[in-house]
Amino acid sequence: MAEVLPSTPVEFLKGVGPKRSDALVSELGIKTCMDLILHLPFRYEDRSEFHKISGIHGEHTAVQMLGVITQAKEVRGGRGSRVIAVFDDGEATMELQWFRGAQWIIRNLPVQKQVVVYGKPNLYKGKWNIAHPEVELFSHFENRKGNGLHPVYSSTERLGRQGLHSQGLAKLIRNVISAVQPAITETLPDRVIREMKLMGRSEALHTVHHPPSPQKAEQAQIRLRFEELFLLQLTLLQHKNMVTKDLPGVRFAEVGEAFNTFYHERLPFELTDAQKRVLREIRGDLNTGWHMNRLLQGDVGSGKTVVALLTALLAKDNGYQSSIMAPTEILAQQHLEGLREMLGPMDVRVELLTGSVKGKARKTVLADLKTGHIDILVGTHALIEPTVVFGKLGLAVIDEQHRFGVAQRAKLWKKSKVAPHILVMTATPIPRTLAMTAYGDLDASILDELPPGRKPIQTVHRTDSARLGVFQFLEDQIAEGRQVYLVYPLIEESATLDHKDLMDGYESIVRRFPPPKYQIGIVHGRMKPEDKTWEMDRFVKGQANILVATTVIEVGVNVPNASVMVIESAERFGLSQLHQLRGRVGRGANQSYCVLMSSSDLGQDARRRLETMCRTNDGFEIAEVDMELRGPGDVMGTQQSGVPDLKVADLVRDRPLLSSARYLAQEVLADDPQLGREEHIALREALETALKARSNWVRIS
Ligand code: ADP
Ligand code: MG
Repeated sequence: MAEVLPSTPVEFLKGVGPKRSDALVSELGIKTCMDLILHLPFRYEDRSEFHKISGIHGEHTAVQMLGVITQAKEVRGGRGSRVIAVFDDGEATMELQWFRGAQWIIRNLPVQKQVVVYGKPNLYKGKWNIAHPEVELFSHFENRKGNGLHPVYSSTERLGRQGLHSQGLAKLIRNVISAVQPAITETLPDRVIREMKLMGRSEALHTVHHPPSPQKAEQAQIRLRFEELFLLQLTLLQHKNMVTKDLPGVRFAEVGEAFNTFYHERLPFELTDAQKRVLREIRGDLNTGWHMNRLLQGDVGSGKTVVALLTALLAKDNGYQSSIMAPTEILAQQHLEGLREMLGPMDVRVELLTGSVKGKARKTVLADLKTGHIDILVGTHALIEPTVVFGKLGLAVIDEQHRFGVAQRAKLWKKSKVAPHILVMTATPIPRTLAMTAYGDLDASILDELPPGRKPIQTVHRTDSARLGVFQFLEDQIAEGRQVYLVYPLIEESATLDHKDLMDGYESIVRRFPPPKYQIGIVHGRMKPEDKTWEMDRFVKGQANILVATTVIEVGVNVPNASVMVIESAERFGLSQLHQLRGRVGRGANQSYCVLMSSSDLGQDARRRLETMCRTNDGFEIAEVDMELRGPGDVMGTQQSGVPDLKVADLVRDRPLLSSARYLAQEVLADDPQLGREEHIALREALETALKARSNWVRIS
């Protein structure tokens, strides 16, 4: 065989060919030898012991036996053919069976030779058998180094049909690694290797596939996971440097009249220490002449809006306009009203632009925006339409960011000759690891303190059998003048049924709390926008006691007098959604409550979610549990969420490694921003290779 390099496509390997290489690409994304080598075992089995058929018992999850396959035959019937073989360990015999890939198996099964058989024993009609066992020639088994620990690889049915189940992959990978190993060079700088006490790259790649001991296997895995996280952090940090330090930003050097007047005369409360700290961080960015790209995380109610407003006033003092983009019309409307109220008679013009601002009003807004007569434009997606042209946009605030896609954010950049400063605000706390990756190219500020005087929300879990008690509690709260949210799940897959539940729920509430003594509102996605707004309005003004709704009220809505949130079928909601919903209460001076209703028959994950909600109000803690339960991709939402593709590392398991990787990447870049130095050549090349394979590692935030 010609020389095999890490970059050699797998189809050129002996014994692979077009069919298997197609399967490798489409099933596992493996194109080159390096990809193959980086297909790490997901666990190791201890294969040091041989069992006897007579010794098999029900507690064995898998057994390994030594013996001979005495006969094998293909049996046709029913749903295709299968293979039945007889295995003899010298004392007794048992059946081995294959239900898939029969033709390939019958051709390749080593009959009348010493073999090692490994698999999960099943008891059928009083006899043990094994379905789809691994079978390997004893001579191969013995030749293999690191005999004790046996790597197990993930595979798929299609690969299995091509003979590339775990063991087939193991064999292929073993061959490739010995051929390629001489060409594997170190990528990480010496100081990083020393600091982290890492195994060398070549040794690690060999050891993961041939581990002499569990400890060595772990060390090798850690080295490879660290490398991946380190390269990712270098990419993100380089990108961050590019959009901040290399891209000129508008300089807001002045703290002028608008900011000062508001701060000293209009601000209705003292800022929390967290708000002050974040403002300092923002002002630091704005005064550098570089471009700000900042993520502001703050739990619901932590007071992000006023931070955004103060930043917008800084922009005005320096002659620039701001935009504030919200995910829904209701929220945009609330922002408009909230900002106007806070600003009072100040000479700051705030306008609204949403889909429902039409005709003459829209024309006026657009015209005044262009001439610079509007200081702050609040709106929805409508803001990023090409027809919306700012005279001088200096700051783009994006509220509740997770609803906006990356591409939409990028459009904001194009609204101004010099890219506006970007402030992304999110009320969904993001686990630290995700903040360091999905938003690794943004600077992060955290509002980790609620304004004073808030009483922590009390959360309880009740099953349907306690419903009468819950209704009585609602009646008492309403008697004290409070208002209640009652939320039903509505998910697309079961929309019709869910809608029926919602309507049934509404009717039973109206029966329990009849008019005219009680006023019950309802809001859901099938209503016309104007009806929705009318119902919301009624609730906001305190004219309705109970608002029955789907999750449309999830984000941002502010009704301080609402003190009870009842969530029906709470087991069907995700943690972050539950947390968001709960954040709708606890905004006023009264003690607030959240009641999680569920059936009594709960799965393990659902139980954990509800327990977590009852235990803590801390959004960051909730986010961590959420990520453990669902994995990083789902926590962030869709593909475009920006959770990077990782091949060997895992954001949940490798949290501590990630922090070190980020820290060391920062150190290396501080020394050598372009990685131009001699000692970083290999690193730069590794980075380029990694980027080619993972296009989603860099994006515009
Ligand atoms: P969120 O971070 O969820 O967007 P808001 O900005 O809507 O939070 O603030 C929630 C409420 O807290 C608002 O009524 C706001 O006026 C009030 N608030 C914000 N900061 C403070 C503060 N430092 N002291 C007292 N109340 C505050
Ligand atoms: Mg908000």
